[in-house]
Amino acid sequence: MQIINPATEEVIREIAEDSQEIIIKKYQAALDGQPAWAAVPLHQRIACISKFYQLLEEEKKELAEILTSEVGKPLQQSYNELNGARNRIEFFIKNAAKWLGDEWIEEEGATREKIVYEPLGVIANISAWNYPYLVGVNVFIPALIGGNAVLYKPSEYATLTGLQIQRLLYRSGIPENVFQVITGKGAAGQTLLELPLNGYFFTGSYRTGKYIAEHTAGKLVPVQLELGGKDPLYVMDDVEDIRVVAGAALEGAVYNNGQSCCAVERIYVQEKIYEPFVQAFVEQARKMPVGDPLDAKTEIGPLSRKEQLKTLMEQVTDAKLKGAEILLGGKQAGAKGYFFEPTVVVNTNHNMKLMTEESFGPVIGIQKVKDDQEAVQLMKDTPYGLTAAVYSKNFDRAEAVMKQMDTGTVYWNCCDRVSAGLPWSGRKNSGLGATLSYQGIRAFVQPKAYHLRG
Ligand code: NAD
Repeated sequence: MQIINPATEEVIREIAEDSQEIIIKKYQAALDGQPAWAAVPLHQRIACISKFYQLLEEEKKELAEILTSEVGKPLQQSYNELNGARNRIEFFIKNAAKWLGDEWIEEEGATREKIVYEPLGVIANISAWNYPYLVGVNVFIPALIGGNAVLYKPSEYATLTGLQIQRLLYRSGIPENVFQVITGKGAAGQTLLELPLNGYFFTGSYRTGKYIAEHTAGKLVPVQLELGGKDPLYVMDDVEDIRVVAGAALEGAVYNNGQSCCAVERIYVQEKIYEPFVQAFVEQARKMPVGDPLDAKTEIGPLSRKEQLKTLMEQVTDAKLKGAEILLGGKQAGAKGYFFEPTVVVNTNHNMKLMTEESFGPVIGIQKVKDDQEAVQLMKDTPYGLTAAVYSKNFDRAEAVMKQMDTGTVYWNCCDRVSAGLPWSGRKNSGLGATLSYQGIRAFVQPKAYHLRG
């Protein structure tokens, strides 16, 4: 398997894909190791994770450079991702004991009752490439703290980072048979689906997520899916500073080269402020430096995957054919690397793929709406349900919109953000189950009810 730098198109490394035989061996090792790991006292398991937290800080320069070299995100954003991952790990370190300890329901009387939280066993963590540290730690950290063994399949586009994670977890004291990286593409993931694992935790596209749900349904084990989105952002006519809101919406749309599950994917603007909003948006987008992700000034690097260039071009062409106007960008940039120009499209409508299908790139459509009712109707016109954002001075007015969203997350005067203390969940085609918060700690254990007499 070749690891390609998306900025230069050079092959950085060649890595052997795990064969079916190797994956089965790793599974057997995990089966052997899991009970002993579950028997390690909770505070000691947490101590290993604290060590990992510390190593991420100590080695952040090397880790950030490796991440940028294989996924192309601007270097500063690789540092941001490592810091963000450490914040989430800190949340788990501080809160795990509270949610995993034995819970007494009745301590007195003839029958005493308590709940004990036991690990699921050996689980698969099949992961995406866009934020390998963030989406990874959502799963493998609480899973390990909960006493599970993890077969971690990083995306084939983030394999080097996956191997770094494994190296640092081993240095932190996690036994080698308790956390194992499975290298490979879809076929390696497929082998995991065929093994009798005790849980499947997936981050990736709707297409693969649905396939995994269908192929594991008969096992009757927990399956959690964190999938894609087509997240809307609505700007009401009462915002105080149109320029600032346009800047925030732009950042939400193009951060990580637009490759965030909760990226702003479509913008609706109330007609009274539509013209100044679009002007402020384009002005700021035009100034964003595109280029070498290792250059500290760069804000937009290459896309991580070559195929995505074609998807973006198709969306832009389809929108143009159906009457949209391209105010900025609209094509691949540079002779080398998978660069796409920051692209702003107006006169859009929901007949265009750009407004209905996940773009996953620095490309955004802006649509004018006459009132909140029309905005709500358009925001809800999607098979996805990850996040939705509203910008307004008036909380009551914003809340009336937020309440109508069928999404796992809503934002008022912010967007494209995740908090360790809140559940991260998608509805409809955006997923199943939640990570983060106390719910994301309990997701990796199963309750046992004790009825005690005598
Ligand atoms: P993907 O579905 O192409 O791949 C995800 C993982 O699934 C990879 O590790 C891949 O090798 C594996 N895989 C592929 N085929 C498989 C099969 N048949 N069986 C088992 N595993 C298989 O997704 P991607 O391109 O890596 O990620 C991008 C998508 O992830 C976007 O849609 C994005 O919105 C979504 N995402 C969602 C969240 C969230 O929290 N909701 C976070 C990050 C990314």
